[in-house]
Amino acid sequence: MQDVKNRNPNQDEFVQAVGEVANDIYNWVQGRDDYHDAQILHRMTEPDRIVSFRVVWEDDDNNVRVQRGWRVQNNNAIGPYKGGLRFSPGVNESVLKFLAFEQTFKNSLTGLPLGGGKGGSDFDPKGKSDAEVMRFCQSFMTELCRHIGPSLDVPAGDIGVGAREIGYLFGQYKRITGRFEGVLTGKALAYGGSQMRPEATGFGAVYFLREMLKSDDQEIEGKTAILSGSGNVALYAARKLIDCKVKVLSLSDSDGVIEIKEGLDEKQLEWIQTLKFEKRGRISEAADEFDGITFHKGKTPWALEADIAMPCATQNELAADAAKALAGNGITHVLEGANMPTTADAMAVLREKGVAVAPAKAANAGGVAVSGLEMSQNAERMSWERAKLDDLLTEIMADIHHKCRKAGKGDDGSVDYRRGANIAGFEKVADAMLAYGVM
Ligand code: NDP
Repeated sequence: MQDVKNRNPNQDEFVQAVGEVANDIYNWVQGRDDYHDAQILHRMTEPDRIVSFRVVWEDDDNNVRVQRGWRVQNNNAIGPYKGGLRFSPGVNESVLKFLAFEQTFKNSLTGLPLGGGKGGSDFDPKGKSDAEVMRFCQSFMTELCRHIGPSLDVPAGDIGVGAREIGYLFGQYKRITGRFEGVLTGKALAYGGSQMRPEATGFGAVYFLREMLKSDDQEIEGKTAILSGSGNVALYAARKLIDCKVKVLSLSDSDGVIEIKEGLDEKQLEWIQTLKFEKRGRISEAADEFDGITFHKGKTPWALEADIAMPCATQNELAADAAKALAGNGITHVLEGANMPTTADAMAVLREKGVAVAPAKAANAGGVAVSGLEMSQNAERMSWERAKLDDLLTEIMADIHHKCRKAGKGDDGSVDYRRGANIAGFEKVADAMLAYGVM
């Protein structure tokens, strides 16, 4: 880890992600001389390549604006690079490297032939007109298109990149290359998208939770849950939780949290989906619209009492003091909907207090799994039924749960899902790298 720190100065998120994986697999790899001789761990901490480029676009007042774009192609040992694009002012190389590193093990866990990558820009789509977002996306893709392809690297959406952005990006790829092919996932149904892709991450996380509870002889019905975020992951997780008769007590955005005392209902959720996905409004507006919803400015959901907590906003949003509050408030399960939402200190608190944690690379793998199925549909130029995709997603999440539980079982019978996910995800990638020899 000292070597990783020295080689990646000021890249805290990346060092944190590597440290968590290394910590979890350390004992397990002892005695694996083949991994050691081939320097597998060391090789995995160095991305295959990172492309960084200038993105120039014009705003609505004809000002020329300059942004930076990246694609981190982390590891393609088990399939083409695959991972989302994030547009947010907080994006930098460290964040994208951590996300691409995590993505590699997540994609391995799905059982599909997908390598790991991630990309994005420090562009902030918030407050921009559709025309500005279009011009930015076109400029971004003008450079990115030379580095991606259906068997090479297949990006998707992430924070700040939803259906609108994917449409502009795919349109520009097609315009430049002249090829209509499955080079992006998260596309709309009209041009090669998959049923269930928008819902997949949130629904998949709830399917994983259902499996966790089942293996502890518990029912999901009747539980209560606190969620952060109000984007793609949070809102579809909320939908599935409501379907499973779980009371959703909160949602949030970077302005604050809404508390829903009686639990979110269908009508409120639909209204919030329109607010967030179409009108691009703020979560506080839900409190103005509905009695029974209260907005707490600048607050997070972690002080509320519930059975389940689902951080679905961003990395390191749940720190040690919040973890203590969760454990004190009766939370028994934490499901990471966002990528690395729990700080290392918070994770230690949750472990000590015996709170079961479903790590992001397992709990939110449903999104990339259905992206993998979108690639299969594009390759065979077919479109599968929604019910078939929902069944496949359910099976994949149950399989991931099984792998994590098996690899994460301690001698005393307790299960550490994070360690299990790291070991199971690592092993397949490591074995493929060994097979290729020294490169
Ligand atoms: P969206 O852009 O749709 O939504 C992000 C949500 O998080 C928004 O409500 C946003 O609020 C909130 N948020 C962002 N930053 C902060 C912050 N610093 N504090 C509080 N709230 C914040 O993104 P997604 O839902 O797609 O992604 C959320 C997380 O899930 C990310 O970690 C992503 O990597 C991960 N993920 C997403 C997948 C997908 O399929 N979409 C797949 C797997 C993982 P605001 O509008 O105020 O910024």
